[in-house]
Amino acid sequence: APSIVWFRDDLRLADNPALRAALDRDEPVVGLYLLDEDSPGMRPLGGAAKWWLHHSLTSLGEDLAAKGATLVLRRGAASDVLPAFVADTGAGAVFWNRRYSRPERDIDAGLKASLREDGVTVESFAASLLFEPWTVKTGAGKPFSVYSPFWRACLSLPSPRAPLPEPREVAGFSGRVDSDDLDDWELLPTSPDWAGGLRERWTPGEAAAKRRLKEFIADDLGGYDRSRDEPASGSTSMLSPRLRWGELSPYQVWTAAVDEGNPRRFLSELGWREFAWHTLFHNPDLATVNLRREFDAFPWPRLNPTHLEAWQKGETGVAMVDAGMKELWVSGWMHNRVRMVTASFLIKNLLIDWRRGEEWFWDCLVDADAANNPFSWQWVAGSGADAAPYFRVFNPELQAEKFDPKREYIRTWAPEHVSGDAPEPIVDLKESRKAALEAYEEVKRAP
Ligand code: FAD
Repeated sequence: APSIVWFRDDLRLADNPALRAALDRDEPVVGLYLLDEDSPGMRPLGGAAKWWLHHSLTSLGEDLAAKGATLVLRRGAASDVLPAFVADTGAGAVFWNRRYSRPERDIDAGLKASLREDGVTVESFAASLLFEPWTVKTGAGKPFSVYSPFWRACLSLPSPRAPLPEPREVAGFSGRVDSDDLDDWELLPTSPDWAGGLRERWTPGEAAAKRRLKEFIADDLGGYDRSRDEPASGSTSMLSPRLRWGELSPYQVWTAAVDEGNPRRFLSELGWREFAWHTLFHNPDLATVNLRREFDAFPWPRLNPTHLEAWQKGETGVAMVDAGMKELWVSGWMHNRVRMVTASFLIKNLLIDWRRGEEWFWDCLVDADAANNPFSWQWVAGSGADAAPYFRVFNPELQAEKFDPKREYIRTWAPEHVSGDAPEPIVDLKESRKAALEAYEEVKRAP
């Protein structure tokens, strides 16, 4: 009876414990990817994410075929589709790597129990996080709400395991099984086709991910501490979509970096990713509910749709903000420093609820991540875990002077600000900052 490897946020063959377990079972293997927009609570993918998924699945299908096995595509609620697929194939075992959002944990737990009841072997593995969320606790047995002690606690645990090698071959299942046609899922934009900038910047798939990891370690890791905050430098890893889709595991990234010495600063960024995911694990409503509930008292004014649109399009008249928002729109990604500046501008200068910004990023980012995105938005808003204090309002002009002194980043993405053709700022930075701090007084007064 064949083994099913259910691929989810782990679109890779190397360092894939679920695939390894299937191979160890010594039965034919069939891969499954299931597009589930139907189970309760599933957050629909954004546009840029769908684009990435399409190409990454194509790549995974080809890689698996080259090893001798097939990737089958099915669509629908997992609790229906997976048992049906087990029946179609007569599978004796299903293997997967764990997920950590609440709806997905519930789905997986339900399936594990029901399939086991039917006599099917089901095993799940740790592959997407370096530390399982239930293993990192304060002395009092609680989840951490502050990053530094969290990361110290992680680092005091046994070191992350070495990555598993890519299998040389995968004995495929020879029975006939129907697969959806990926094109029928309509993950790619058609009219208009806005993905030109994404195609130019990115090559989804495991092979390209591995190349980028190698290149980053060889060329950029050494200068990471010095230049990571300069958006024009191109010196960060740009591995975020690779980690989001699991084309690389954090174990591979961790090990490659550690082998180069002890790049603490870079490793601590992987630590922020862990912290965001652990926070989501303990707070499943992170994308909608303020972690610090006193922020529920924040008096958001009525939404100004013109301001929101100017921000989305990068037409605010503020150079660093416009450059960032255009980088996002065109290429599906934005440098971390600029993510902070654009988010702060939306929340604090335009007084627009952080959730509207989170939704836009969710739709536009190729690395849109169920934990990192809401976690970071709440961090900027001041309502999150170990967040920036609300009164820390980034000044986008000073940020540009400091981190883009030659205006290279601005010239690349918003050249109108260098040539003097940019519109006037839609708000006065000083006045709007003052208004934000006044609004914040209400939070301070909240019980
Ligand atoms: P590097 O500096 O090379 O870091 C290596 C890896 O560490 C990244 O790939 C990422 O997985 C992780 N990492 C780095 N910084 C952070 C951080 N601050 N928080 C969590 N993980 C981090 N990151 C996402 O992956 N998806 C998102 O949807 C996302 N939304 C964000 C929204 C806002 C408002 C802000 C301020 C940040 C957001 N981030 C998000 C975090 C961060 O900006 C990106 O992870 C980072 O810019 C990715 O670039 P890189 O791969 O070159 O990072």
